[in-house]
Amino acid sequence: MSFLIVSPGKDPKPWVEALQNQHPGLNIYVYPEEHDKEEVEFVLSWKHPRGLFKNYPNLKVIASMGAGVDHITSDEELPENIKVTKVVDDMLSADMGNFILSLILQHQRNLLDYSRQQAKKQWQPKTYRRNKDVRVGILGLGTLGKKAAEILVNNNFDVHGFSRNSKEIDGVESFSGEDQFEEFLRQSDILVNLLPLTPKTEKILNKELFEKLPEGAYVINVARGEHLVELDLIEMLDQDHLSGAAIDVFWQEPLPEDHPFWEHPQVFITPHIASVTHPEAVVPQIVENYEHMMEDEPLKNLVKRDIGY
Ligand code: NDP
Repeated sequence: MSFLIVSPGKDPKPWVEALQNQHPGLNIYVYPEEHDKEEVEFVLSWKHPRGLFKNYPNLKVIASMGAGVDHITSDEELPENIKVTKVVDDMLSADMGNFILSLILQHQRNLLDYSRQQAKKQWQPKTYRRNKDVRVGILGLGTLGKKAAEILVNNNFDVHGFSRNSKEIDGVESFSGEDQFEEFLRQSDILVNLLPLTPKTEKILNKELFEKLPEGAYVINVARGEHLVELDLIEMLDQDHLSGAAIDVFWQEPLPEDHPFWEHPQVFITPHIASVTHPEAVVPQIVENYEHMMEDEPLKNLVKRDIGY
């Protein structure tokens, strides 16, 4: 029985070290090094080559190296019996929430304008709204969305959220179901996207949605690049319907040099760093699931394959 790491998108070394520390004696292979495919029952993966896993007849579980699992579930050749797990980590959730808070404050307190003014030695104070008067709408109230909502509530923002099923989070107004979507959007001066990427949510951030946001709304996408129709965003910014956007994730990463976002004055770009998984922090839960698999016990942080998250 062996444990395979498949991570062409990430350096496997820290993962191997953390796994060896946590579970000495684990028989670890790193794809594409030579290994017996029949021996592999558990894989730790990030952005595997499409179709790879259909060649592993005894594979039972694929653990994602991160909170996102779209890189696994979007593989149309993934055998249906394989279980998929995601990472859930308090620090990861807090990092995401704090990053969103910093993006909101940067926008609300006009920090980017002052940075531009400084370059021109200009002294021009601007007005700003108090936190309690800024309505933040969080799209997706799952692990990360819930934590972000709590951090924003603790900072006195006016927070509401949208998810498939209604939620109860202190201080957060919950919207759910298609009939409440428009109402949710109409109240979002700042829209934060924390949805998982599924066939239902791909390209959800499009012109039709942006038009329902209040005039001058600000958009933050920290979930997945494929949620956003990039040209629709640019159109809405250029028409001044939206005041700006902070984007951490893109259809193509790294963002190509000739991409119009780079030079757009209202787009703030970060290189997919909103919240970064630390191997040593999450390896214990991965090893625990490996042991659960061996003992035929229920897995933690299991993804519902039928809905894709
Ligand atoms: P979860 O699976 O925990 O939560 C997903 C939330 O979205 C749930 O509230 C769910 O509703 C809701 N949802 C799913 N589909 C729909 C839909 N069609 N309509 C309305 N609501 C929907 O996800 P996480 O919080 O773990 O991750 C959120 C995102 O963050 C992912 O896209 C992930 O890839 C991304 N991410 C980005 C990182 C970065 O550095 N930029 C780092 C880590 C993650 P319900 O609760 O009712 O099921």
